Amino acid sequence: MIEVKRVLKNNRLTKLRCSDRSELIIVPGHVADPDTSMLLSRTALFIQKGRIARIQTDFHTNQIPPGLEVVSLPELTILPALIDCHVHVALDGVDFAAAVKRWSDSFAWLEHVKANLEHSLESGLATIRDGGDNGMVGLRTRKLLEKGELEGPRILACGQGIGKAGKYGSFLGPGISNVGEACQLIDALKEQGVDWLKILISGIVSFKDYGKIGAVQFTQTELNIMTKYAHDLGLPVMAHASSDEAVRLGIKAGVDTMEHGYFVSAKSLADMAEKGIPWVPTVVPVANQLEAHAHLYHSPESQEIIKRTYELQLKKINEAQSLGVSLGIGTDAGAGGVVHGYDYFRELELFAQAGLSPSEVLRAATSTAAQICGLQEEIGRIEVGKKALLIGVRGNPFQELNVLRNVEFLLY
Ligand SMILES: [Zn+2]
Repeated sequence: MIEVKRVLKNNRLTKLRCSDRSELIIVPGHVADPDTSMLLSRTALFIQKGRIARIQTDFHTNQIPPGLEVVSLPELTILPALIDCHVHVALDGVDFAAAVKRWSDSFAWLEHVKANLEHSLESGLATIRDGGDNGMVGLRTRKLLEKGELEGPRILACGQGIGKAGKYGSFLGPGISNVGEACQLIDALKEQGVDWLKILISGIVSFKDYGKIGAVQFTQTELNIMTKYAHDLGLPVMAHASSDEAVRLGIKAGVDTMEHGYFVSAKSLADMAEKGIPWVPTVVPVANQLEAHAHLYHSPESQEIIKRTYELQLKKINEAQSLGVSLGIGTDAGAGGVVHGYDYFRELELFAQAGLSPSEVLRAATSTAAQICGLQEEIGRIEVGKKALLIGVRGNPFQELNVLRNVEFLLY
């Protein structure tokens, strides 16, 4: 029996690696299913070789087979572990220039990445999708995790982002001049084993000029060719699209997920719902600009623009939810002011502020996020056959989303 109580008193997270254990029974107070909003009591989860082998309802502790390792969590509610659909593990959200400088020094970046991964685990994240960096730190991190040389959530990596030379995103990728070069870069990334491709369709939102967004980088034809090229190689495409014009180009090119999407139109949202293109609206990188010390970085006018920009995004999230667009939680962790893991709950809170119910928010963090990442067969729900990636929180998350602020147990 693993003693979790002692640790809970200190309000610290208990982490267990499921792959280290061949067999395990989890006996929680409750099991919460965000997809049905059901809260089950007297339910035990039998884990075998890292997967959920059996879910037994009406379970009594006298039914525990002798010799099995039992994790007893009578005060906790178990949910699927959380997923962040958009991070940059190479950046820490604190000092951009220092982080970029570290990428050429393997020891220096590794220390910072370790901290980013640790913060992610502490917040209940077992899976993150990395949006890339020009140092290939995200992909290198994934490879170290796979070799067991680092501790952290599973990473889906896209290596470098694909953008036009001289336009926004030089820290994300080398910048290409034409489609021929883009296809060469896609080949090279495929060769290095990336899981996703990131295409930069636009620049970023302005904090000084309301509604202004960095220029579109590719023509429709260029985007169509790159997206098809990626798909033919079996690579899904995440599109950095910060304006409605960029979103429309992405929809027509058939990208797999839309990232940011500030100022997206109702028509584009309806098209995304119809074509099944999910949206990762990343509100926290904008909203966090108004956190403490905002006055040091932004003028009062800028602060007003930031507020209007993210409040509009919240309205769009609400609209997207009613139109049936798949919504995923992505923090853009590593972007200025967004700390890995710690700001994950903030994005959940912003989704709730947009008018989504706790169950809807939790779906965006678990089952829908799994779909967005292309991992719906493996993770995101508590189901027989799925990987046993679980978190434990104190209380009823469907009544009080706040309980997610303090994840007390993680099986990853
Ligand atoms: Zn990003």
